[in-house]
Amino acid sequence: ASMRDSKIKKTKTVCTYCGVGCSFDVWTQDREILKVEPHVAAPANGISTCVKGKFGWDYVNSQERLTKPLIREGDRFREAEWEEAYSLIAEKMKKISGEHGKDALSFISSSKTTNEESYLMQKLARAVFGTNNVDNCSRYCQTPATEGLFRTVGHGGDSGSITDIQQAELVLIIGSNTAESHPVLATRVKRAQKLHGQKVIVSDLRKHEMASRADMFLHPKSGSDLVWLSAVTKYIVDNDLHDKSFLAERVNGMEEYIQSLEKYTLDYAEEQTGLSKKEMKQAAEMIAKADTVCSLWAMGVTQHLGGSDTSTAISNLMLITGNYGKPGAGTYPLRGHNNVQGASDFGSMPNKYPSYENVTDNEVREKYERAWGAELSADIGWNNHEMVEAIHNGNLKAMYLKGEDMGIVDSNINYVHEAFEKLDFFVVQDIFLSKTAEFADVVLPASPSLEKEGTFTNTERRIQRLYQALEPLGDSKPDWQIIMELANTLGAEWNYEHPADIMAEASALAPLFAGVSYELLEGYKSLQWPVEPDGTDTPLLFEKEFPLPEGKAKLFPVDWTPPLQYDEQYDLHVNNGRLLEHFHEGNMTYKAEGITSKTPGVFLEVSPELASERGLEEGTLVRLTSPYGSVKVSCIITDRVTGNELYLPMNDSGVGAVNQLTSSRADKDTDTPAYKEVSAKMEILKAK
Ligand code: SF4
Repeated sequence: ASMRDSKIKKTKTVCTYCGVGCSFDVWTQDREILKVEPHVAAPANGISTCVKGKFGWDYVNSQERLTKPLIREGDRFREAEWEEAYSLIAEKMKKISGEHGKDALSFISSSKTTNEESYLMQKLARAVFGTNNVDNCSRYCQTPATEGLFRTVGHGGDSGSITDIQQAELVLIIGSNTAESHPVLATRVKRAQKLHGQKVIVSDLRKHEMASRADMFLHPKSGSDLVWLSAVTKYIVDNDLHDKSFLAERVNGMEEYIQSLEKYTLDYAEEQTGLSKKEMKQAAEMIAKADTVCSLWAMGVTQHLGGSDTSTAISNLMLITGNYGKPGAGTYPLRGHNNVQGASDFGSMPNKYPSYENVTDNEVREKYERAWGAELSADIGWNNHEMVEAIHNGNLKAMYLKGEDMGIVDSNINYVHEAFEKLDFFVVQDIFLSKTAEFADVVLPASPSLEKEGTFTNTERRIQRLYQALEPLGDSKPDWQIIMELANTLGAEWNYEHPADIMAEASALAPLFAGVSYELLEGYKSLQWPVEPDGTDTPLLFEKEFPLPEGKAKLFPVDWTPPLQYDEQYDLHVNNGRLLEHFHEGNMTYKAEGITSKTPGVFLEVSPELASERGLEEGTLVRLTSPYGSVKVSCIITDRVTGNELYLPMNDSGVGAVNQLTSSRADKDTDTPAYKEVSAKMEILKAK
């Protein structure tokens, strides 16, 4: 090989953006990223990727990367060495814990960091600091889906594989902008529509790409999905279209559940949802008559006051029609971030150890006490949402947060910023000086996925390895090393030499990952949990039994919580979601030139009706105001939205537009913010 070739390196990695979990080879020369090359052996994507996976990597070489620890001095930060930063954090956290108790401390993990790093974060909180105040950002998106599945089928993950979705006779997509949010997964549905006439029903407020490709597009009123789902389920039972043998053999709670459906008649549903009886009957017949149905949903379902209940209603419908435990069927809450599944799986939750074992279970807690040699708290900790309240109430004094721009992505961000200002001590660990980091006392420079090893778990419960392509930039370090070194500064004696050692410890303790090892994950090999001690994994859940009493699933009665009502001056509903080209708050994709040149900034989608009523044109600058804040944004006019429905992408290069408007109200069961329940009034600032 020539000198030039000798420096070219090919490294297998896993995409750092969405939960589809595409894997591919990245070709590098020194720090330059030459190309991203998909590989036939990649289990989730084969030879496909989307624009983010292919071109979204420049951020790793951004001038804005943090390369040194920073310590606040008055209004500014000064650079520091690691030792000084660790000592300061250790000293401050110990002092606060001593004065105000262990639960005056809190920890937030990241769904962008690896499973091993999520495991260490909860170990740091629990074993070193003695608190269960640890959470991750699945609280902002998918915890209600997990709750709905725990109630009904017992595992909080997709019930099959992405390839199963391709086999389904019918795919039901609810509140998911799949073509933009999970592009490669959407491609599989599009292919199945072409190749074997797969039928698709979409329920959404907005006529997005999958809606326009669907056989049936349902457009219910915002926040009313539970009503039509329950009415459709009732219609199926009333017309004897349910799967009686499946229900008799495999499901508990039928009688009580049927009673709970009583009020969900088609008449009631028509009134509450705005869908016609004819549409609902047709949907019911399509669902009942298909041999296999997969249900996909995302934040259009979960980010409501009743997000857990609507997720439960979806699972109930799949049980009534026997759509579990066979290929091409089941429930698929589409996980947003690349490792949002793994962040919870590996225990960064205030009520759960890794593998979703309860912190209140004495046996489980004793297992961890023995393994970690520490006394552990039996009290359920605070979740993200409760942490913000606890800071405002003066009960929570310090926060250690990694890889999450909470000051942009949480709802009602002005209220969150006030909370940050009240903290006695705030540590933020990230790759950039995020909006959140601006409030910190100490900022620690971390390394992104291309600069470290570890594993991510995608939406289909698939654990995949990533390998190191680049050296950490400047003095930045992988999150697992930072957490370990901080723990050791506090007297712990952790000596992990490699993330494989962390996984070995986690898999010895957490039943879902019993047989997981780095050897079984080499290269493009992967494992879908639960993984038996002998290494057998589980692509398809519930084939024989459900992990609930008697091995049976449970129909779980739910009732509708109507969406938030606003004063009538807030006359426009502000739906919000993603764009294909950008990711979330945009702190990575807005630093990737190939992407920003194409899609530079945020905009507001306005319907043609509203445009003519208010005299709006393409580019008109408007101000939206809700009871919680206001934003300025320019309009585009599109028939993807209708009437008084607006659509504001949440990816907005760090201004947090949507969350200037959102409230602090949340799903009643999980505290996931009701991001989708926001209304605003509009004033015109400047015609184009
Ligand atoms: Fe990455 Fe998701 Fe795009 Fe795949 S579909 S390349 S995982 S962003």
